[in-house]
Amino acid sequence: MTSTLLERLAEPEARDPLALASELDLRTQAFVNGEFVDALSGETFSCISPSSGQVIAEVASCDTADVDRAVSHARAAFESGVWSRMAPKARKKVLLRFAELIAENADELALLETLDMGKPIRDAQRVDLPLSAECMQYYGEAIDKVYDEIAPTPESSVVMIVKEPLGVVAAVVPWNFPTLMATWKLGPALATGNSVILKPAEQSPLTAIRLGELGAEAGLPPGVLQVLPGFGETAGQALGRHPDVDMVAFTGSTEVGKLFLRYSGESNMKRLALECGGKSPLLVFPDCDLDAAATAAAWGVFYNQGEVCNAASRLLVHADVKDELLEKIVGVASRIRPGDPLDPTTRMGAIVDETQLRRVLAYIEAGKEEGATLHAGGSRVLEETGGYFVEPTIFDAVSNDMTIAREEIFGPVLSTISFTDEEEAIAIANDTVYGLAAGVWTNDVNRAHRAARAIRAGVVWVNTFDMGDISSPFGGFKQSGFGRDKSLHAMEKFTDRKAVWIQLR
Ligand code: NAP
Ligand code: MG
Repeated sequence: MTSTLLERLAEPEARDPLALASELDLRTQAFVNGEFVDALSGETFSCISPSSGQVIAEVASCDTADVDRAVSHARAAFESGVWSRMAPKARKKVLLRFAELIAENADELALLETLDMGKPIRDAQRVDLPLSAECMQYYGEAIDKVYDEIAPTPESSVVMIVKEPLGVVAAVVPWNFPTLMATWKLGPALATGNSVILKPAEQSPLTAIRLGELGAEAGLPPGVLQVLPGFGETAGQALGRHPDVDMVAFTGSTEVGKLFLRYSGESNMKRLALECGGKSPLLVFPDCDLDAAATAAAWGVFYNQGEVCNAASRLLVHADVKDELLEKIVGVASRIRPGDPLDPTTRMGAIVDETQLRRVLAYIEAGKEEGATLHAGGSRVLEETGGYFVEPTIFDAVSNDMTIAREEIFGPVLSTISFTDEEEAIAIANDTVYGLAAGVWTNDVNRAHRAARAIRAGVVWVNTFDMGDISSPFGGFKQSGFGRDKSLHAMEKFTDRKAVWIQLR
């Protein structure tokens, strides 16, 4: 059904969000203990398509009571051992099937993602869904390939160091890559034997709900993966404060990440992994391929409408090549025009909702007021569609103490800051509360190594930007959070280590 639907999207008349939503037979309830259920209060909230502003669904609005119910099912499933003590080989089969089901339903999920949060269908299809399926597959495969340890004690004892699942894990995720951020948590949390409760962002619940159903179809027993759509202040907070939730794996803003630290401290000291915001610098030295750097800089900040945690939102460029580089970036950006995200040729979609649109426009105003030079863009566009579109925006003459250089905008806004030597560039790069990612463009191998080690960030790209692989860990330094997603390292945070000391007699 959906592959023909996607082919049809080449025709403009096929791109009506309401018609597509009704054709898709949307799941809008919570997924609890293996079944779709309404919120206990019966409340719902409206799901908006950001490309038209239309309401495409009413979704169950879960609250504290729903969290209590889901946690008790999750706990029961965990204690029963139905998943947590299942033979690793058998658990592997289930996650591999889950990965296959994500891949088999990728077109439908991609369409849901685009309808719900406004990213180009081209990206949802080519990037988000393949990476999500690959992530689940990777952790499925890992299950029976990761070993525990024996400590090097004298022969009179055997000390086994075993990793055990934590129990009930809550995954609280954002709206910018809804399926992918969910699978980054679900993959390693399920692989290690936990029961997981997924709370998607209120702006993007649709794919998460469908994931719950696909997980059950793959063979996850009831209560092992549950999905609670709802608001952060209610469902999110209830998970953060619940005495029987053992861990929260969170991706979102630094502000909300700090709330989870408080919830944990005020409840049961639950474990936390926090993947938070960023204000990533891209350093461009004169001794590099400027055309390639310009392409990386433009896509680094404008991809996904700029709604990317590691967006290259601060361009740090040597004064000698600044004008030339900016001209090239404007050239690349001219090909990244906002358009209908359902059009398969669109490269930049809609901002997720009206609140975020207003936020981005307010930052653009702040940039102008604080004396930065608006070099390109700066406006809302396509207003007649009812959707929330902002054109690629480039500021020049930014100083690192301006608001647009310090705060995460989460929109298509680039701040250009010039420097005159390497030391100054590194100092500006590190002058931020964040430390998620950075990029360095130089052909000097010595400088590349020096800069890569000197920048305080969880990932440093050299002569590229925003490259990733499931085998490469991702996460922040400083107030970009702690804990790593992706790679085998991601599994560590979902387990506790136990030493079993056996005395030989
Ligand atoms: P957000 O507002 O922090 O929300 C993230 C999640 O937390 C959502 O599910 C949200 O629910 C929930 N939440 C909000 N307020 C809460 C509260 N008081 N208590 C408990 N939970 C609460 O972030 P966002 O606007 O969705 O996403 C953008 C942010 O995510 C950016 O800062 C970005 O940098 C960050 N991000 C980081 C990474 C990374 O890997 N480091 C990746 C992607 C995004 P509701 O939406 O329903 O309120
Ligand atoms: Mg939505």
